[in-house]
Amino acid sequence: MIEVSGLRKTYGDFAAVVDSDFAVDDGEVFGIVGPNGAGKTTTLKVIAGLVEPTDGEVTVAGFDASDPEMRRHLGFLPEESPLYEEMTALSYLRFFADLYDVPREVADERIEAALDRLELDHRERRLGDVSKGMKRKVAIARSLVNDPDVLVYDEPASGLDPVTTNSVLAFTRELRETGKTVVFSAHNLYHVESVCDRVVVMNEGRIVARGSVDGIRERHGETTYRVFTDVEPTATPALADLDAATAEVGDRYRTTVPDMDAVAAVREAVADAGGEVVDIRSREPSLEDVFLDIVGRPMPGRYTGDIGGGEGSDSARDGDETATAAATEATE
Ligand code: ATP
Repeated sequence: MIEVSGLRKTYGDFAAVVDSDFAVDDGEVFGIVGPNGAGKTTTLKVIAGLVEPTDGEVTVAGFDASDPEMRRHLGFLPEESPLYEEMTALSYLRFFADLYDVPREVADERIEAALDRLELDHRERRLGDVSKGMKRKVAIARSLVNDPDVLVYDEPASGLDPVTTNSVLAFTRELRETGKTVVFSAHNLYHVESVCDRVVVMNEGRIVARGSVDGIRERHGETTYRVFTDVEPTATPALADLDAATAEVGDRYRTTVPDMDAVAAVREAVADAGGEVVDIRSREPSLEDVFLDIVGRPMPGRYTGDIGGGEGSDSARDGDETATAAATEATE
């Protein structure tokens, strides 16, 4: 449904997006995750036909993203979506339905259904007087008035309270059941964990990881073992070679190690010191650990001077390969 191939967007000599490739299948909920400035909004705006790529190809529902016809198939929710404050939710949404030439009866039914699913109250209240969460819900309903096949949502849940965040994310997930394809951005993996089929993680303009959230967690996070002992393990050479850290916790010592062989080495070192192991616990990496690990890695530069010569030059192409190699390495 969406194909992004070799996408690059530069502003002057600064690369907002470099060598981005991904495809979103029909009926999929796809997440683009990354910290501030990673290039998420730029990518979404290119998909929505609002920003022209410097290089690469983007198609949506078989149309080039720049083709005005494509917009009939698309609903876009910008990160900031100011509404007409003097209108009510209903009059505002009818206004947009009129812009898309949706017959009034069809529009009313569609708007009503969206607002019901979003559990929006106060539909006749002036939009200037409703909460931020309600405004976001109205903006989401606006993205649906033309019954698009593809929805592009930029940070739909950011800045909302936890209840509204959950409701917006659940709604985004449900869109899949109505046959829509959704691509949306988020600052953190938590927001996409239960919603997305697949994600790409972006950092500094590049895709640095991709796949299901579980797959990313498996590939990038390592289980560690915590060995609790009643004496401090003796500093044996075997232990010194290990990537082990010991801390005093109450009346015990906790040594954190990467694998079961290391657990055995700790066991021996503790026996040497005249003590014993009292507990062993494994610790799965949190999603936050995984995310920080992925986006915390050093990246190639973002200026065209760092990533290659100039556009279209051989050195720029070489630079692209370097950037791709770095990104590929980061995903492995
Ligand atoms: P955020 O989560 O903060 O919205 P983002 O991942 O959506 O970040 P983008 O908005 O795509 O990131 O921006 C990527 C980089 O490109 C940023 O460094 C931004 O300052 C830069 N950028 C975006 N638009 C422009 C522009 N029109 N002119 C110059 N630089 C831009």
